[in-house]
Amino acid sequence: MKKLALILLLATLCASAAAAQTASPAVKEYVKVEAPTIALTHVRVVDGTGASAKEDQTVLLSGGKVQTVSGATFKLPGDTKTIDATGMTLLPGLVLLHEHMFYPAGGGVFHEMPFSFPRLYLASGVTSLRTGGSIEPYTDIELKKSIDAGKSPGPKIHITGPYLEGSPPPILQLHGLGGPEDARKTVAFWADAGATSFKAYNVLTRAELKAAIDEAHARKLKLTGHLCSIGFREAAALGIDDLEHGLIVDTEFYPDKKPDVCPDPTKVSMHLATMDVNGPEIQQTIRELVERKVAVTSTLPVFELFVPGRDATPARVLTAMSDSAKVLYLTSRARLDDPARNQQRYGAPAAPWGKLFQMEMQFERAFAKAGGLLVAGTDPTGNGGTLAGFGSQREVELLVEAGFTPLEAIQICTQNGARYLGIENEAGTIAPGKAADLILVKGAPDKNIADIEKVDTVFKDGIGYDPQKLIDSVRGLVGIR
Ligand SMILES: [Zn+2]
Repeated sequence: MKKLALILLLATLCASAAAAQTASPAVKEYVKVEAPTIALTHVRVVDGTGASAKEDQTVLLSGGKVQTVSGATFKLPGDTKTIDATGMTLLPGLVLLHEHMFYPAGGGVFHEMPFSFPRLYLASGVTSLRTGGSIEPYTDIELKKSIDAGKSPGPKIHITGPYLEGSPPPILQLHGLGGPEDARKTVAFWADAGATSFKAYNVLTRAELKAAIDEAHARKLKLTGHLCSIGFREAAALGIDDLEHGLIVDTEFYPDKKPDVCPDPTKVSMHLATMDVNGPEIQQTIRELVERKVAVTSTLPVFELFVPGRDATPARVLTAMSDSAKVLYLTSRARLDDPARNQQRYGAPAAPWGKLFQMEMQFERAFAKAGGLLVAGTDPTGNGGTLAGFGSQREVELLVEAGFTPLEAIQICTQNGARYLGIENEAGTIAPGKAADLILVKGAPDKNIADIEKVDTVFKDGIGYDPQKLIDSVRGLVGIR
């Protein structure tokens, strides 16, 4: 039996050696490990399924895939490059679903970051992502092609088309839909151009949303939404696949909510802060979302930075920013604690964000406990303090703060994302035959989640990238390109 297993293993290795991945010259300077066969020895493995870590494993990579994960000692092929990973943990690459290639430039304008963001994502262990709406959809599509062709470093990108926004669009860079037929045509056009996902936005109508969902579903594509004019239960009934951000943006509980109209977000927030997550209304919404198999995307990092008193922006975040991005962000943070401004806006010296942030965490736990598919994302927008990659790691940490175990938080950010995208057979967990999209970290993030930041190597299709070199290459550039 053992002999047969060995023969099978060798056969796999031979077959895959032919298809061995090599880094293209354009990304080579960021590559740390590259060989036809790589063995990580004495490594702890957290496989992304929620299972406990396995100690002292040997993981063999070749042909861009994981070939073997074993606790037994076996003879390694002659040309194997061996990495002694004692004291390190191997995780699946993160699969995150609310990602952007753009960044706020202030004044409601957004600039595309096709240079810095893909590098920060990859350096931080994000190997697959879905953009969650696009400002420059053609740029995103060409960026994906460029990364896939090995012309620039970055993760595997699943493209979401331009925001499906109503009229007039609150952001000038967006198209305002002119009715259901426009919504249908917009989905059709961008699906033909390469978008595999769509996102409805704040002020579209139910008729526009319905037309967009029907067109997307007819093409077997999914549609998510960051909604305001439409409540969560309305959207679920129309067939939406995913709701971004969770409870914090759900307007359906606001007493003065009018159909198809986005109410004043400040008033919605203040009302929401008076509610109880365990109360019948929110619990009913959770039940309906679970019943209709609507996923929810957790995006805690972007909200965290609106909570007064949570000023822990790490130095690495500020170092990555341009001077003007830093000034914009720090100015906006300082305003959060301005009692006069809060009094004017919220009628109280402090904004309700501390309460809302706790409610959001409670909602996400309750939704997952009820059997809902909770997925995760970074949303590098907000006041500018949430960056691609660094913010992605922060999401995993905040899920632990929300009450998930580290293993559950890792699973939400790996297997759950892959499940939603329908790529579970290729990504999101560590198992033979799956893509060698992996994060090697120092320490044990299943015991101390902050270790998720101690990235030693990020593997994408079996090629090991150097996180520090990628981060150094974008120093001072976030906000510029
Ligand atoms: Zn977003």
